[in-house]
Amino acid sequence: MTESVNGRGPGSGVAARSRLTVVSGPSGVGKSSVVGELRRIHPELYFSVSVTTRRPRPGEVDGAHYHFVDLAEFDRMADAGELLEHAEFAGNHYGTPRAPVEAALAAGKPAVLEIELQGARQVRKAMPEAQLVMLVPPSWDVLVSRLTGRGTEDEAVVARRLAIAEDELAAAKEFDAVVVNADVRQAANELLTLVLTPSSE
Ligand code: 5GP
Repeated sequence: MTESVNGRGPGSGVAARSRLTVVSGPSGVGKSSVVGELRRIHPELYFSVSVTTRRPRPGEVDGAHYHFVDLAEFDRMADAGELLEHAEFAGNHYGTPRAPVEAALAAGKPAVLEIELQGARQVRKAMPEAQLVMLVPPSWDVLVSRLTGRGTEDEAVVARRLAIAEDELAAAKEFDAVVVNADVRQAANELLTLVLTPSSE
């Protein structure tokens, strides 16, 4: 029997249904790589595309990596209740469009969100049946070198993200499961097992 971190595990008696899995964890831990690998091996799952006010990084495609919007459009969506959750992170806004997630779940597709901690907590409140998975680095040093090595953010931004990372890692006990990202493929396979576990188990 699998023990859940927060005691929400087996035996709830809820009928099996496709479930929402939230993947969270500090910036630089490799969430995008692990979720990207999961998508490569299981493209039939639903992967949420967030809206953000952040500027695209080189190579990021609007509508694929994110929907890039301005603050006015972001606020409009949030005010209209179109976002399942939303949060400010390191100076930018991020949110999950609600309708596509609900449509996927209604169609029987497991859905995966890759979001930061405040958003994960909002999903926990809005959808208590959602499964929260935290991705953690094999060590703090690995996280630091991944974040500095990415080369896409300046020093101040990296420092800010590392400060947030400490708080995010400290929240692991709020999650149903913790996956260590020492190897992207292995972590993606562990995540897959969790994603495909029906909500009644
Ligand atoms: P990045 O700017 O590196 O793409 O993302 C910064 C952080 O925002 C990451 O931890 C990422 O997982 C998180 N994030 C991406 N999309 C969303 C979202 O829709 N909602 C929330 N709450 N966080 C998000």
